[in-house]
Amino acid sequence: MIHKNKTPVAFWLDYDFFTEEQKPIKCLTVILRTVGCQWRKCTMCGFWHESADVTQEDILAQLERTLRTSPEEDFILKIFTSGSFLDEREISSGTRIAIAELVNNRQAIKKLVVETRPEFINEKKIGDLNIVEHLELAIGLETADDFIRSKYINKGFSFADYKTAAKIVHECEATVKTYLLLKPPFVSEKKAIEDIIKSAALVAPYSSIISLNLCNVQKYTRLEDLWRKRYYRPPWLWSAVETVKEIKKGNENVVVTSDPVGAGHIRGPHNCGKCDMEITEAIKEFNITQNLNVLERLAEIDCECKETWHALLKFDDFLFGSNI
Ligand code: SF4
Ligand SMILES: [Zn+2]
Repeated sequence: MIHKNKTPVAFWLDYDFFTEEQKPIKCLTVILRTVGCQWRKCTMCGFWHESADVTQEDILAQLERTLRTSPEEDFILKIFTSGSFLDEREISSGTRIAIAELVNNRQAIKKLVVETRPEFINEKKIGDLNIVEHLELAIGLETADDFIRSKYINKGFSFADYKTAAKIVHECEATVKTYLLLKPPFVSEKKAIEDIIKSAALVAPYSSIISLNLCNVQKYTRLEDLWRKRYYRPPWLWSAVETVKEIKKGNENVVVTSDPVGAGHIRGPHNCGKCDMEITEAIKEFNITQNLNVLERLAEIDCECKETWHALLKFDDFLFGSNI
């Protein structure tokens, strides 16, 4: 029997948009099991429950196991750790160099994407990966608004920290993918949409890709407590569509994606249940085509929940937090 520590949390194959060649391409994503994120304070995040007391050898074994499922044709490799790939406590410099060699030896891997908090980004750590042809650093900024990020998400870094890190990434000739979070706790549906559109404009000059995360309720989080007490509802899928469209329209040179994790479920972004599937499929299609018509077509969906959503946007901002 293979020990849990030598097995990644998950891995799967799907498609993504290859920014450098402006076309869809296969994508192998792996979530490596590491000692996990050391911050562990974000209100919506329960990822660190997937962590374990693994060694660096275990991590390499997990990746080698995943790469056995590689497609024959060209693909993007995304290595996530539910934490920071550049945090020495999770992935050592030696392991990063070994991973870069593994990637470099496989011609079919066209791009490597890893995630990290900005405080771990420096030239030396990125240098460990410099033999990789296309390297992308994904940063979970969530919003450009320092108040929302610090008070409602508890992220522990500022927009200025993100900008400094993004500049270092560019100096190292790598690219930046920026995650924004639609609807953190304590933010109304309407304000959440406005915040993302504003944030997207501010991060676009630093980002090759803006990836919109639709907030979902993970287990054992502060967000879950709020949700159980009915102080929180995940974003509507209508809001997701609206936001993705507006980001793309306002920032045509940036690739915009949104992985609708948990869509249609009570803990994830959802509408009424009847139209959720069609909208989710459209978002997935948009991700790999970047064709706004795919989302514009959704205007034809005549689901009654759209009226409810419109009414919510009209009154939510006004009523949110009031005693009425
Ligand atoms: S969201 Fe990222 S930084 Fe925050 S606790 Fe989760 S893994 Fe750590
Ligand atoms: Zn509906």
